[in-house]
Amino acid sequence: MTKMHVKKGDTVKVISGKDRGKVGEVKRSIPSTGRVVVEKVNMMKKAMRPTQQNPQGGISTMEAPLDASNVMLVCPSCNEATRVAHKRTEAGKLIRVCKKCGKDIDTE
Ligand SMILES: [Zn+2]
Repeated sequence: MTKMHVKKGDTVKVISGKDRGKVGEVKRSIPSTGRVVVEKVNMMKKAMRPTQQNPQGGISTMEAPLDASNVMLVCPSCNEATRVAHKRTEAGKLIRVCKKCGKDIDTE
């Protein structure tokens, strides 16, 4: 299992690949493959079989997972794509800290 530096709900910036520069919210993280699904990033066309809801079938677009190493976390405090440091809180919880502005990224 890969330790992910981003998780669901994070805002991330894509740093490589065809969607480089795009910013979006992480919809899903997949620790077993080290991949993330980011809103409106890495859109793929998918052929849909006809179903009762959609009797015509057809083509829909959806986000395909991309490697988590291709995204950087966008700090909610300074709004910059940043690397993260980790620190342990007084309660013993490990939280992420922005390396640019030093603010805590995780609130709890
Ligand atoms: Zn910051």
